[in-house]
Amino acid sequence: MRYTEVAVNFPGSRSTFCYAVPPQLNVNVGQAVWVPFGSRVIQGIVVGVSDQPSMTADSYQLSAIKEIAETITDYPLLSPRQIELARWISQYYLSPLFTAIALMLPPGFERKPITYFQYREGTSPSPTKDLPPLTPEQTQALRLIREKKKVSFKELERKFGLKKAKQISDQLLHYHLVMKSQELEKAKVKPKSLPYVRLIASKDEIEDETARLNKVRAYKQAAVLEFLSQQTQPTAANEVRKGLNCSLETIRALERRRLLSVELVNIRRDPLSHLRLKPSLPPPFTSSQQAAWKSIHHVIASEAKQSQSPPVFLLFGVTGSGKTEIYLRALTQVIAKGKRGICLVPEIALTPQTVERFASRFPRHVGILHSGLSLGEQFDEWQRIKEGKCDVVIGPRSALFAPQPDLGLIIIDEEHEWTYKQEDKSPRYHARDVALKLAQLTGAVVILGSATPDIDSFHKAQLGKYHLVELKERITPHGYSPLPKVDIVDMKEELKAGNTSLFSRSLLAAMKETLARAEQIILFLNRRGTATFIQCHNCGFIFRCPRCSVALTYHSAEKKLTCHRCHYAIPVPQACPQCFSHRLKFLGIGTQRVADEVKQLLSRARLLRWDRDVTTKRHAHEELLSSFRDHRADILIGTQMIAKGLDLPQVTLAGIISADTGLNLPDFRAGERTFQLLCQVAGRAGRGLKAGKVIIQTYSPENYAIQAAAKHDYVHFYNQEIAYRRQYNYPPFSHFIRLVYYHANNDLCRREAERVRDTILNEQERKGITNLSLIGPVPAFAARVRGRYRWQLILRGSAPARVLSGITLPQGWTLDVDPVGVI
Ligand code: ADP
Ligand code: ZN
Ligand code: ZN
Repeated sequence: MRYTEVAVNFPGSRSTFCYAVPPQLNVNVGQAVWVPFGSRVIQGIVVGVSDQPSMTADSYQLSAIKEIAETITDYPLLSPRQIELARWISQYYLSPLFTAIALMLPPGFERKPITYFQYREGTSPSPTKDLPPLTPEQTQALRLIREKKKVSFKELERKFGLKKAKQISDQLLHYHLVMKSQELEKAKVKPKSLPYVRLIASKDEIEDETARLNKVRAYKQAAVLEFLSQQTQPTAANEVRKGLNCSLETIRALERRRLLSVELVNIRRDPLSHLRLKPSLPPPFTSSQQAAWKSIHHVIASEAKQSQSPPVFLLFGVTGSGKTEIYLRALTQVIAKGKRGICLVPEIALTPQTVERFASRFPRHVGILHSGLSLGEQFDEWQRIKEGKCDVVIGPRSALFAPQPDLGLIIIDEEHEWTYKQEDKSPRYHARDVALKLAQLTGAVVILGSATPDIDSFHKAQLGKYHLVELKERITPHGYSPLPKVDIVDMKEELKAGNTSLFSRSLLAAMKETLARAEQIILFLNRRGTATFIQCHNCGFIFRCPRCSVALTYHSAEKKLTCHRCHYAIPVPQACPQCFSHRLKFLGIGTQRVADEVKQLLSRARLLRWDRDVTTKRHAHEELLSSFRDHRADILIGTQMIAKGLDLPQVTLAGIISADTGLNLPDFRAGERTFQLLCQVAGRAGRGLKAGKVIIQTYSPENYAIQAAAKHDYVHFYNQEIAYRRQYNYPPFSHFIRLVYYHANNDLCRREAERVRDTILNEQERKGITNLSLIGPVPAFAARVRGRYRWQLILRGSAPARVLSGITLPQGWTLDVDPVGVI
């Protein structure tokens, strides 16, 4: 007997299960199967095959082991290497194995079973002697089932509500009036195919036939034959019909007479079809690119071997320093060795230029994968990639799981971006860390690129774990260009001078000058953390924790200001303790407000707003961007989204409305985040011929993140930041795990969090774990989300996962290993 270890598609199921292989089936690792699970049949992926029941699977008696019901695919969907990667993700991020496997499955693969009820023929719906009379609702349901022959449970649920539908269907089953069956929901996506026609008769036959058809006045049929005899390739039936204005019947008639054949041809849904690409050639490298390339080239050229630590390059250079050209060159070299690459970008909608550059350098050999594509497009791309037709796959973090064969290179552009961390659902993985594991498994080379590397990445480079490769100058199409000059404006001074507008006097003056020169402006707003802390409108005072000095966070539920580090809390104050003004404001400015104020001050300027509310449509980003690049607007106002990799050569002024919003978040990464955003915005201005200028408005002009950003000095920032992290034992000197509990009742929520805290503390004592601290429970930053309260615990230590290994958390908890934020 053969046994399999199967990861099942059932929510919350952490472990794998053992299933026996029925003799008629041939089952291999990576294959998709249907397996019985409780009273239903669900999807599973085979992750192991052996002659013994697997030990890691839940323990049960041999006789209780069920058999696999059926195979879904007769070939493996996942390679053994992908399964190994999934196991690693599941272990490291403490998430169910199937959720990790699901990342790698073909788009649209997951399907659920649907329960149907059928009428039992031969039984009378009227109450018999032994049956109690049916209730009106039971009668109604039974009538429905009889009329429609087959009714899904969902349909009953829609009609009667979940509880009633369950009662009714249970009763009807009990009375043997209906039968229950299960079917799988319809496949969500299939290959797309269209009918194509081609002639199959000989040339002479066709000529004779055409003449004959004309004689009998079957002109349409004759025209079809004539048209097709001029084609060298099969033609889409639709095209023939449209071109000759004939019906399908005309074609069918010719098919019946064996003059032509109609065949279904698979059509590729191509997500790049809207791009008008000009093939491009690589430019010769500049001398600094050449120097950077030397070390990378060397490693790619040498034979890749599977090793404990894959070669990782940290390509450190400001925006516009030529990093993308290096990626393209590295890819060319990898392809020449018969291998392929994956290139991750932070958010594909924001990086149309990167996609275009790859697509025009490697025409027809670029695959893209992201959730903005239709399911059909995703499915086709996935198949194409699996067949080895793409030299490179570009996409957001999920593209890392593309079935790319012979992987030789993984590029992560803007590696510091937080979109690489999946935060909203399990597994809460970080694509950078998973990429390193994947590279270790495949022997691929990794290139991380950034102007402001993640503190952790730069630290690894300092330790010699990554090769640090630097690009120091910016290249523009016109040669080197200096970085823009950055001014810091102290908004406290503005208030003192009686200016309460969003714009400082110097920013307003600079905007006027820029508009007078007919150049472009971007105004940037950091919207994360809006209205979460309170500031005095008069003197700029911000309420901080007297013990920890982080800004206190406003919790609307309790009307309190709370410190997230130490629990310190005060009621919302009525007046400023510094100047006694009552004008306290809840900080938070939207793009709309900025736009309104610009309109008042500069009525002639043409504005464009870019934020998530405006740009939900497909290709909306590209349209907005090209409209701005074509100078159909003077000022672009946006949130952090505009800080990302855009090339806007006519922008010569960048204004940061408020640098403080991010800085005051009660999170140890607040400084890093603010620095990154400011640098990115500062890097936007002056990428064309003309020099650019950047103005940062802030209430904390002395802050080191702002000071370093103003000088474009990453290393200076890094040195201060790493010292701070070391002093307080923050990552990379420790690891965090964040546990959040959600519940509609605040009290219950808090109590459950306290219970788990006690469990963890007991476990820590029992296992004798040192170097572990627990913070909380505290209400999470946004304490209430969609009607549910959130309380959190933070574990910090050198290996905090150890303490959790024996603890089972009930539903309602989420776990985030290495969270990018702890608020
Ligand atoms: P980054 O990825 O660091 O932002 P890019 O690779 O996009 O930098 O380069 C910035 C600009 O300079 C782009 O317009 C690019 O086409 C151009 N560029 C890059 N390398 C060269 C080169 N060697 N010669 C000429 N132009 C170059
Ligand atoms: Zn505190
Ligand atoms: Zn004040």
